[in-house]
Amino acid sequence: ASGYSLLRDPHHNKGLAFTEKERDAHYLRGLLPPTVISQDLQVKKMMYSIRKYKETNERLFYKLLIDNVEELLPVVYTPTVGEACQKYGSIFRRPQGLFISLKEKGKIHEVLRNWPQKDIQVIVVTDGERILGLGDLGCQGMGIPIGKLSLYTALGGVCPSACLPVTIDVGTNNEQLLNDEFYIGLRRRRATGLEYAELMDEFMTAVKQNYGEKVLIQFEDFANHNAFDLLAKYGTTHLIFNDDIQGTASVVLAGLVAALKVVGGTLADHRFLFLGAGEAGTGIAELIALEISKQTNMPLEEARKKISLVDSKGLIVKSRIDSLQHFKKPWAHDHEPIKKLVDAVNGTKPTVLIGTSGVGRTFTKEVVEAMAALNDKPIIFSLSNPTSQSECTAEEAYTWSKGRAIFASGSPFDPVEYKGRVFVPGQANNAYIFPGFGLGLIMSGAIRVHDDMLLAASEALAAQVTQENFDKGLIYPPFKNIRQISANIAANVAAKAYELGLATRQPRPKDLVKYAESCMYNPAYRSYR
Ligand code: NAP
Ligand code: MN
Repeated sequence: ASGYSLLRDPHHNKGLAFTEKERDAHYLRGLLPPTVISQDLQVKKMMYSIRKYKETNERLFYKLLIDNVEELLPVVYTPTVGEACQKYGSIFRRPQGLFISLKEKGKIHEVLRNWPQKDIQVIVVTDGERILGLGDLGCQGMGIPIGKLSLYTALGGVCPSACLPVTIDVGTNNEQLLNDEFYIGLRRRRATGLEYAELMDEFMTAVKQNYGEKVLIQFEDFANHNAFDLLAKYGTTHLIFNDDIQGTASVVLAGLVAALKVVGGTLADHRFLFLGAGEAGTGIAELIALEISKQTNMPLEEARKKISLVDSKGLIVKSRIDSLQHFKKPWAHDHEPIKKLVDAVNGTKPTVLIGTSGVGRTFTKEVVEAMAALNDKPIIFSLSNPTSQSECTAEEAYTWSKGRAIFASGSPFDPVEYKGRVFVPGQANNAYIFPGFGLGLIMSGAIRVHDDMLLAASEALAAQVTQENFDKGLIYPPFKNIRQISANIAANVAAKAYELGLATRQPRPKDLVKYAESCMYNPAYRSYR
């Protein structure tokens, strides 16, 4: 038998997985490129190719994704989407999404009209400056809006044609990209100050002119020096949502609320310590404080005192206030300066420790043991992504706390067996919240996002965790029910929009969960007759 026909025989073919010996014995030399790969890698490669179907058969792609959401989420979104962004330049074939660069200044209104769909409900926009944990990927950040919007459709049921991915290109400070001959973006350093603000402002104005007041604009992966300012500036004039700040806050608060059912006490009975005081850290802290002040009628400033944050320079305290970025100032409490995390744990005695630093291995044995010494059931969230940056692994959290920690992470970890018990770590994935949150805004015709809607989303998510989940140590519900979870979140968010007078779709549907379900895109084929 010739090697040539062996490669064409589906019963026996192994492709690149043929070993060196097999290649010698079966006349395969030269017929395959030199690399030998495992079947596992072949499987991974095949999973990647699923993304292609979105371009050729959208309904098939979404049906596949919805029916296999647990398996495919990591392929369509993080971590695979990160690789897609990094390779975007070299694999660029058919462009997806709308690119708005400094070259389009003065013409953004017309650029939006070049997009074939006119009825847009959700825009996800990035400027590519802080893509996942990968940093500045400039124009190649486009993978993020595309990936997020796939989830809006698959998990939240927003119609794909109503989704518009946008990348704002103001340059990049990534030297490697600037020197890459295949780089697809503007070859200049990032615009800042007025030049940046003017382009963003023209974009925001053009969006409202083109699509009206009810289009949702989700900001994604902007660096924190712009993210907070944009949120404050446009939050009062547009329907905007920053997933890195607000979505993270809502999903983490839901996990905390669920964890309290295991640990006991109300939020106000707990003390919180954060490692990392950026978009995620201060966003979560602010939403916790808001919820505490609502539950107890405590002034927000009082509630904030239950929460301390550590940044790269140590505990955030009053004596540092003049040199703090403005989003950290509300967290500068009266306390002596502390440099090391373990000293901050012992100094502030938290019941909850949350990692949002982007730096791995910072919840050391010493830190976890200090938490376990202070608490019967310490709550420990290692939220930094990707897995390599997680503050500690699930196994470390469970073993160092002798099986007492309530643990959740940003990146997925496998279940851990400790002294004969199996612990299933929860994943505080933003994909639990934003698709349902967005659906709730769209279906109620909301015109502004209000923090109470974030609380409503948290509450709805936490309510989906069952006793059976808790028994396994889970504080988030399984992803396989995500469409149902999203419908419940959407209903709670919409209810809040009506209550606050921010909903424009009248009259209010009676059963909001049913209405949410009826609004959701279904990818089953239509018959053409
Ligand atoms: P960011 O805005 O850049 O904030 C990072 C913060 O960490 C800053 O306050 C920084 O301090 C601090 N930091 C950096 N190195 C540190 C160190 N060695 N010790 C103590 N603090 C340190 O970033 P972000 O958007 O908040 O994201 C942070 C991490 O959270 C990322 O890894 C991201 O993947 C993760 N995240 C997870 C989820 C989720 O699980 N659902 C959601 C969002 C984000 P300075 O201010 O002093 O520089
Ligand atoms: Mn993000």
